[in-house]
Amino acid sequence: MTVLFSQRDINPAGLPRPLVDRHGRHISYLRISVTDRCDFRCVYCMAEHMEFLPRSDVLSFEEIDTIARAFIARGTRRIRLTGGEPLVRRDIIELVEKLGSYIGSGLDELTLTTNGSQLRRLAPRLAAAGVRRLNVSLDTLDEGRFRAITRRGRLAEVLDGIDAADEAGLKLKINMVAMRGVNDDEIEPMMAWAHGRGFGLTLIEGMPLGEVGIDRVDSYLPLKEMRARLAAKFTLEPTDHRSGGPARYDWVKQTNGLLGFITPMSHNFCESCNRVRLTATGQLFMCLGQEDMVDLSEVLRTHGPAALDAALDRAMQLKPKGHDFVLDRAHAAPALARHMSVTGG
Ligand code: SAM
Ligand code: SF4
Repeated sequence: MTVLFSQRDINPAGLPRPLVDRHGRHISYLRISVTDRCDFRCVYCMAEHMEFLPRSDVLSFEEIDTIARAFIARGTRRIRLTGGEPLVRRDIIELVEKLGSYIGSGLDELTLTTNGSQLRRLAPRLAAAGVRRLNVSLDTLDEGRFRAITRRGRLAEVLDGIDAADEAGLKLKINMVAMRGVNDDEIEPMMAWAHGRGFGLTLIEGMPLGEVGIDRVDSYLPLKEMRARLAAKFTLEPTDHRSGGPARYDWVKQTNGLLGFITPMSHNFCESCNRVRLTATGQLFMCLGQEDMVDLSEVLRTHGPAALDAALDRAMQLKPKGHDFVLDRAHAAPALARHMSVTGG
């Protein structure tokens, strides 16, 4: 069995030294982007023609594992693999199996966010490696719309992948980026479909990250407005259900399911932020909406694994209080040039 904790990691009270930032927030959740590449080109996430990170800069599985262990030794309880599309990285199952072996030895949970295209092939192996929950991104149930939004994808494959994950016993949550004039008329049908199948549905406000293929101002849909529209028709009972992330959940009485809202634009949820994000090339970003980062790839490749621990402490000093996205015609340019697929959604 892998030893995750050394004596060095234990403080006098016998507890792992937690990662706490300047604002007193415990960082216990690591998101790892395993690749910035993807088989889709969703209009809100990527441009049609993307320049991807050089493969030689991308962390090896061994490097990702070393960094993950440094985090777990400091109290990280949950890891989510994301991207780009995590399941298009070659031999990704090897990494999932490795990280999955830490569940119960410091790690509580290993999850993934995926577009679902590879799930028919990989869902049983994810489940066997200890993954219990998946977030699958799906913005529409209409074939033509799906092709237009993803610019590549085939809805049938994704729906089949969702079936495969369900059959493998994985608990699913559907993530839907809500866009005015694009798919806002589908929120109710999506909710009926997801809840009918026992999946949660979480709506997300589009964030101004990177140059993409959509007018972000026109398509921006404040979810407060959407919730009010839904509340006029459905009984939305606020819950204290938390999935470790920024989503706030209602229980929808008529459809018997959870409806989540992620509102990075209209509501600042940063006070309870417990996460940091590692890019595929090893930069640790402290916030999706800010530039503050520590280059863990450089630390690891130049100074070796022992230097990671101090680098994590340095990172905690950099974590900003929050982000403040502004989106209107006067601020139509992306808040950050970095695409969501680089930092990992
Ligand atoms: N490829 C995987 C997927 O689509 O689920 C994982 C990576 S993707 C970047 C993670 C999540 O970020 C997806 O749910 C996607 O819809 C969301 N996303 C991408 N760009 C976004 C943006 N600009 N604003 C809000 N959500 C975004
Ligand atoms: Fe790929 Fe996910 Fe971005 Fe869509 S949202 S382009 S599936 S990384």
